[in-house]
Amino acid sequence: MDYNILVNKDNPLPRAHIPNNLVDATSKYKDNILIDQKAKEAFDKLKEEATKNGYQIDIESGYRDYDYQEKIYNRLLEEKGFTYAVTRIAEPGKSEHQTGLAIDFCVYRDDKCYIENDIKDLEETLWVHQNAHKYGFILRYPEGKEDITKYDYEPWHVRYVGSLAEYLHTNNLTLEEYYDKKIN
Ligand SMILES: [Zn+2]
Repeated sequence: MDYNILVNKDNPLPRAHIPNNLVDATSKYKDNILIDQKAKEAFDKLKEEATKNGYQIDIESGYRDYDYQEKIYNRLLEEKGFTYAVTRIAEPGKSEHQTGLAIDFCVYRDDKCYIENDIKDLEETLWVHQNAHKYGFILRYPEGKEDITKYDYEPWHVRYVGSLAEYLHTNNLTLEEYYDKKIN
């Protein structure tokens, strides 16, 4: 497993790409979630540390296969049109969720679960952004880097990259910038 794999609109995965070390990551929020085993172990630690700080976070979405991505992309395309769909959801093969290394996290408060833009300004979310790198995660689509990632800011989407996370966080680099630097 290449934990530093770059998947984006210019670097898609084939339909047949299925990670071989997916494990069950069913959360309080949702059943039938699968993610990479190492990403799961790392997220469990992050979650434990969050709990110690009084924050409740969990996994809302993990691995998505090609066919599923195709389904949700086509649905959004049909409902909202191309311009809307293209900046909000990856076309099939172009989603990091197909690697098993991406996690959309949610925040619990008073037994309610908050997701996506509803968690943007929460203390819990800020804490995750400041601490996830210690556990091998980066905020994959940060604010201010939309032109580079080609995605809107997604405060809920973290990506497991293992030991590279520390470097990317310290230098404020996206994966795209990291690979550009390596080539040039
Ligand atoms: Zn996501």
